[in-house]
Amino acid sequence: MDLRGKNRNRRNSGRRPVRKNGSESGYRKTGNRGGGHGRIRGRNAKAGILLLTVLTAALILRACLWSGEYHVDVDASEPEIDVQLLDVNPYSRPGIQSDGITGIVIHYTANPGSTAQENRDYFNGLQYSQETSASSNFIVGLDGEVIQCVPTWEIAYASNERNHDTVSIEVCHPDATGKFTEDTYGSLVQLTAWLCVKFGLSQDDVIRHYDVTGKNCPKYYVEHEDAWEAFKDQVGQAIQKTAEAGS
Ligand SMILES: [Zn+2]
Repeated sequence: MDLRGKNRNRRNSGRRPVRKNGSESGYRKTGNRGGGHGRIRGRNAKAGILLLTVLTAALILRACLWSGEYHVDVDASEPEIDVQLLDVNPYSRPGIQSDGITGIVIHYTANPGSTAQENRDYFNGLQYSQETSASSNFIVGLDGEVIQCVPTWEIAYASNERNHDTVSIEVCHPDATGKFTEDTYGSLVQLTAWLCVKFGLSQDDVIRHYDVTGKNCPKYYVEHEDAWEAFKDQVGQAIQKTAEAGS
């Protein structure tokens, strides 16, 4: 597990900027020098067709790049949450009040096939095993179930130096790729969107553990930057959907 919090990883405090890989290419205006009107019209028509072709190709390419992702239809309403708070203890729920929440941090369990319940029980058991300090505010399971372990106004041990001002979400995954199931993904989008609305945040305030410490967590979203951007877009759409419904 990679959830150590407290003061242990202070050395890795460099915050990496989120890389944006979308390129915006401008189209150069073609000059209309020379030739009659007919020729110009013909050229414009050709340029138009070329532009359409390029745009269509770009859209198809984008769709192909994202073909491994899910497009779920959720809003930012409160998801069903199974509240199973951990016992207050020094290893997973210190009972310390958070500062104002300024971000949501996404993690993966790094334990393929493990369930939300197993991860919650592991966190709670740390008070006895004392093997490490770890926890998270929420866990999203393989079937999309959501368990809350630590209140949002209390610190969890998940995101190192951002523990004090963020809410953390651990996400279960079926295999070593770290990719989430569609059910998990849908719940994660909704939970994240709901938390954003609750704390007055936007999708731009949603970060990966990687963005805090450079750790390969959540693995799939560190290795697939486009999928990470798509996830954040979906969170933004869910927030938008609820805002529109409420106005
Ligand atoms: Zn993590």
